[in-house]
Amino acid sequence: MPTANCLHYATQCFEGMKLYRSGADGRLRLFRPARNAARMRMSCSRIALPDFEPDALEALIKKLCAVDGGRWLPKERGDGFLYIRPAMIGSDPALGVNKPKEALLYVILCVFPALDVPGVLATGAPQAAAPPPSQQANGEGNASLTANGVALPMRPRGRGMRLLASPESEIRAWPGGFGFAKLGANYGPTLEATGAARVSGYDQVLWLFGDAAEVTEAGAANFFVVWRGKESGRLELVTAPLDSRIILEGVTRASVLDLARERLTVKENVAGLEPVDVVERTLTIHEILDAYTEGRLIEAFAAGTAFFIAPVGEIHFRGTDIEVPLAEGNSGSYAKNIKDWLKDIMWGRVEHEWGVVV
Ligand code: PMP
Repeated sequence: MPTANCLHYATQCFEGMKLYRSGADGRLRLFRPARNAARMRMSCSRIALPDFEPDALEALIKKLCAVDGGRWLPKERGDGFLYIRPAMIGSDPALGVNKPKEALLYVILCVFPALDVPGVLATGAPQAAAPPPSQQANGEGNASLTANGVALPMRPRGRGMRLLASPESEIRAWPGGFGFAKLGANYGPTLEATGAARVSGYDQVLWLFGDAAEVTEAGAANFFVVWRGKESGRLELVTAPLDSRIILEGVTRASVLDLARERLTVKENVAGLEPVDVVERTLTIHEILDAYTEGRLIEAFAAGTAFFIAPVGEIHFRGTDIEVPLAEGNSGSYAKNIKDWLKDIMWGRVEHEWGVVV
């Protein structure tokens, strides 16, 4: 109804997940779906929507995937994925400024367009209309530059994402607000800035916060940097912390941290790379700038369901271009290893508890 509570008071939240078809064993898998269900309950609690049984949502998603996944991801086509969008809206038709008395929970399953196909929204979210299978994304998640359905000149593939640091006037989230929840209300107000960044040739906005210019998130993804610590002299994999409640706790973020702690902190690590300290702490754009000018910046990447692990090649901050190294041509070595490990789990090439068979 035009009077629906969600249309007036933003009583809406959502999730973003993928369904993976493995070319290796032909099975359909979700990636850590319990985390999405838990996060959606948390989002509901922030926006006056009702609680629900998380196992029931997971069961609903699995059922939908089992029924429709096979049709849209035929086994013969090998590796592939669909995008899953659970959402909840306050649906009661009443204009009173009240907590909704009715809510609707629904799940959309759709083909994810290749990200260099015009029509991808500024949040990196998919359009519902299915492009021909030949244009389906392969999960590499290379960001593109598109706006209003018109293809803009693309940065040549293989040179990483270009991020435009947000100006002081644009703030995505603030303490005491709701940046930690996946509410539609966090996204609408960012679309102008993201659209403008794209017109200027950038892929995403790097959201800064506060007088110190804290680096929070890259578009609709979490942000990671690898640098050599100024004091420690050791390599550090750094991402913004959760405690100030201004970033979304990404499922990909949590998985990157878990894998990095398990596999990259030890001297004789699986990847044969120099060990890193894994650090969740406030980091500022000035620290990144210092690391860059002092030759301590090793790599940076964004991590999220839509863009997956997306290496960053450049950050523009108030007149300065920070050229982020890309050790292996189109990716830093740490991002590349982490991405490969995650892909192996998502596409069932290794058995892992995070890959949940439908
Ligand atoms: N930050 C924001 C603001 C997001 O919208 C997303 C996408 N859900 C992420 C981070 C990454 O979260 P996830 O890894 O769960 O996709």
